[in-house]
Amino acid sequence: MIKENLAKIKATVPEGVTLVAVSKTKPVSDVQEAYEAGQRIFGENHALEMRDKHEVLPHDIQWHFIGHLQTNKIKYIIPFVTLIHSIDSANLLEAVNKEAKKHERVVDCLLQFHIAQEETKFGLDLDEARQLLESETFKAMQNVRICGVMGMATFTDDMEQVRKEFKHLKDIFNILKKDYFEDQEQFREISMGMSDDYPIAIEEGATLVRVGSKIFGARNYMN
Ligand SMILES: *Cc1c(COP(=O)(O)O)cnc(C)c1O
Repeated sequence: MIKENLAKIKATVPEGVTLVAVSKTKPVSDVQEAYEAGQRIFGENHALEMRDKHEVLPHDIQWHFIGHLQTNKIKYIIPFVTLIHSIDSANLLEAVNKEAKKHERVVDCLLQFHIAQEETKFGLDLDEARQLLESETFKAMQNVRICGVMGMATFTDDMEQVRKEFKHLKDIFNILKKDYFEDQEQFREISMGMSDDYPIAIEEGATLVRVGSKIFGARNYMN
């Protein structure tokens, strides 16, 4: 089923948009199946789970971290992570930079924005992002590279609400691009859209979509 699901989704994802297969809570055998069907980019939201999967699966997999990252867990993923989607505070970015330096890596990161109505979701607002990007601490960081923005829409059936939130994230991207990253080619990613709303996210300018249950089936618990 995973292979068929992947094929169906890939057929709806245009060139220039990257599919992140979200394998959180799913067994290694499921990831392996998707891998054999050609998928190479996987997303996880728990550091230890991602580390454990990384250890046993083929090493040409690109692992994207998409969940709230606790500073004491950074060390588990820094040696191999390809992209951290979920930088939601200046402190977290500073801690990632510090750990990346130990490993002599430059780690690609996205700034996560709070675009949903729910209070529970993590993320920065535009003012906080400006403060971060204008700080001397940020300017001194040599081991992280900001490649764009990420956001999660409200969990709702109201697709017009979801569309509005994606438009908001795109606006934030455009503002940051113009004010801070105009001449920096790497700042080009907009990570938005999940199983239920990724087609709308693509219409609104997503470059990365994060799809889990539509590929691997429903998860047993909310995560
Ligand atoms: C779980 C998760 C996804 C994928 O969700 P699905 O609805 O299963 O596609 C995408 N992004 C984040 C941040 C997630 O935690």
